[in-house]
Amino acid sequence: MLAQQNTKWDKTVDVAVLGLGLAGAVGAITAHDAGVKVVVVEKQPADNHHTFSSMSGGSIMRPSTVEGGITYMEALCRVNDELSWTDSEVIRVWAEYAVENRDYVEKLGGKLRFMRRGAEHPELSGADLMEVWGYRGWGYRMMLFFGDQVKAREIEVLYSTPAKELITNLQGEVVGVLAEGKEGPIRIRATRGVLLCTGGFEFNEQMKLQYLRVYPSWFDGAGANTGDGIKMAMKIGADLWHMNCVSARFAAKFPEFPIPFKFDYGGKGWLYRQIHASDALEPAGFIFVDRYGRRFTRENIKLHGLYYELTAFDTHRLEYPRVPSYFIFDRKRMEEGPLAMTHSGPSGPHKLYVWSKDNRAELEKGWISEGRTVRELARKLGMSPGILDNTVRAWNKSCAQGKDARFGRSANQLVPIDSPPFYAIRLLPGGANTQGGPRRNSKAQIVDPDGEPIPGLYGAGECGSLYGMLYPVGGGNLAECIAFGRIAGENAAKERIKSI
Ligand SMILES: Cc1cc2nc3c(=O)[nH]c(=O)nc-3n(C[C@H](O)[C@H](O)[C@H](O)COP(=O)(O)OP(=O)(O)OC[C@H]3O[C@@H](n4cnc5c(N)ncnc54)[C@H](O)[C@@H]3O)c2cc1C
Repeated sequence: MLAQQNTKWDKTVDVAVLGLGLAGAVGAITAHDAGVKVVVVEKQPADNHHTFSSMSGGSIMRPSTVEGGITYMEALCRVNDELSWTDSEVIRVWAEYAVENRDYVEKLGGKLRFMRRGAEHPELSGADLMEVWGYRGWGYRMMLFFGDQVKAREIEVLYSTPAKELITNLQGEVVGVLAEGKEGPIRIRATRGVLLCTGGFEFNEQMKLQYLRVYPSWFDGAGANTGDGIKMAMKIGADLWHMNCVSARFAAKFPEFPIPFKFDYGGKGWLYRQIHASDALEPAGFIFVDRYGRRFTRENIKLHGLYYELTAFDTHRLEYPRVPSYFIFDRKRMEEGPLAMTHSGPSGPHKLYVWSKDNRAELEKGWISEGRTVRELARKLGMSPGILDNTVRAWNKSCAQGKDARFGRSANQLVPIDSPPFYAIRLLPGGANTQGGPRRNSKAQIVDPDGEPIPGLYGAGECGSLYGMLYPVGGGNLAECIAFGRIAGENAAKERIKSI
């Protein structure tokens, strides 16, 4: 939308930040601390504000050294000698800032604990130089803390005010934002810049259909992430990147509840320990099977990449054989405590849904299927009883032999499924978040398809994250929110003032 000489501005600031997740909070704090006037424009109401950041596990990655960060990210992003998902300069600046993530949070007064060293893809160079730090109290407390930091600086936050359009001058520079306030449209003049921190497109069905590799795909964060920042940037000529990239595995979506769930498959924090210390595990027995009841993967999964294994399409049958898939387990896992994750997602500290401790409420709702025998369970799932029965028998035999010859699952996870009743949950591709959005350069400026910056427009966080197909390690996205929130905040605060 073009600014007019006679445009009536409802508010004038130096920097407008769109979206108050972790990226927006860090961007706003950084620009404010650089001495400029900042406003935050937030779509959700103050009294019911939950974000991907606040629903997250609060793990934050930090490379031990800048060189280590560059080496690992370069390896992660490289497709071949000529092609990389992400430009080297962007990787370099990310590593320079991400190395300071721990210091940055602790200097503000935030509380972190060391969780682990190592990465999701240990075979790549530099992986052993990645560290993961956890915010005490998960993403929920992390965002209470960052919200308090915004408040302490008296940065104005306009809640219940979705941003709708970027306003440009005749030279194509971004000079403001049109938002929908509680009492109608608001025009905000941002003399130096606008930061797009509106998250991904996890709840935009058309965008998921057009850009992701498999449909449906579900993500267990806040429903407000409908790709608004991506659309606003597209309208003024931004290039897009990483649109088909996600950090995801499985999610279970039930019709009665708007947000899907992820599970602690093995029980007693299996999933959590899988991320942070995968050795001494004694999970309850479980496997994943495709829609026909066949195993297809090693269940000690790549937590942020299994999604890509679900995208296989059968062109003869015209179907995705792994959509849906099923989580198959027995009474022992049922008795190990809540199946859904309780440190993050909708059944995490926000308590958007309180999952029952013994899983009985969800069994009664029909979210969990039950069979006295594996064959009975298969019939309830609409599968051939013979196939699922053979799969479970073969799995139990592998456990007895101490070797999963077919998929190579770790020896410490070879636990049979042999205690009736037997259970299943229907799983769809999904998980944490999308990565794609407007492409940025090393100054966090949004660029056009020729790589030229769109003056006055910056991006941070999931709205055009720098990660491509492979995800570095648990904590990657929050690490990026902090690094690029700072880069965007610093550079926007330094921008020259633009005229209309
Ligand atoms: C269950 C779960 C666990 C996770 N755990 C981790 C983890 O441990 N470590 C990790 O690194 N990553 C994790 N992730 C991913 C990570 O949480 C997100 O990638 C990250 O928090 C995104 O932050 P953000 O600031 O970009 O967006 P968000 O935190 O989603 O914030 C976006 C904000 O923009 C607002 N908004 C949207 N549209 C508009 C609009 N038009 N106008 C104004 N405001 C708007 C939204 O309301 C929201 O407040 C997890 C994700 C999930 C779902």
